[in-house]
Amino acid sequence: MAKTSALLATMKTMSSKHKVTRQRATRRVPASAGPADPQLIEDLVAANRILADYGVLDGYGHVSARHDRDPNRYLLSRSLAPALVTAKDIMEYDLDSNPVDTQDRALYVERFIHGEIYKARPDVQAVVHHHSPAVIPFGVTTVPLRPLYHMAAFLWEGVPVFEIRDVAGMTDLLVRSPALGCALAQTLGNKAAALMRGHGAVVVSSSLPGVVGRSIYLQLNAHLQAQAIALGGTVTYLDPEEGRRADPGGYQRAWELWKRKAMTK
Ligand code: MN
Repeated sequence: MAKTSALLATMKTMSSKHKVTRQRATRRVPASAGPADPQLIEDLVAANRILADYGVLDGYGHVSARHDRDPNRYLLSRSLAPALVTAKDIMEYDLDSNPVDTQDRALYVERFIHGEIYKARPDVQAVVHHHSPAVIPFGVTTVPLRPLYHMAAFLWEGVPVFEIRDVAGMTDLLVRSPALGCALAQTLGNKAAALMRGHGAVVVSSSLPGVVGRSIYLQLNAHLQAQAIALGGTVTYLDPEEGRRADPGGYQRAWELWKRKAMTK
């Protein structure tokens, strides 16, 4: 209880700090970093469609990439189902998640997940937020999601769980503010992924192919782990040393296949 009160107090301080930043930021429209590399935009469109094809994203969830011209800008679709995203839907944001040019388009309410992670993690170039049902059980029970499949070896450092109730009390569970995005980024720490209790997950990588591969195999590992536990007996997980050695990295070979399939439909 004391821990919760302390967190809530910290959150209050963080929240008021962020409010100042946000008010200041919303008074000015951020300058554009200039047109992003068309290849990056194409890959971001492909990432949306691939993740929809694999059921990681459905009508909801989103994927973003850091702008290639300015690390203080990121690219994310307007509010739209990922399978429908095209190049003209991609918008530019600053790291406070203010759009450069809204053109009266609707924005994802949880865009702060992306901006706050890019602020906290200079190594991250791409972020996915999804609601895959497969991962939900591991966010709402005491059973931690752990890698047992070599394609998900990147999970070897552990998968923290973001408990929004600890930082904001009763909410609708959505990351609707910079302060909540910041708290989520703190829970993620230096890890590849974090679960969000009763909501979904966030996955990060140093590239778009990397974050797509990690999102697909995180979901698959969750399915396999639930199956392994259901069989009974003892489950053998990857040893952290095996995880470190087996980390598949950028998923480049699979990316070429996924992208071609997604873009030629
Ligand atoms: Mn969400």
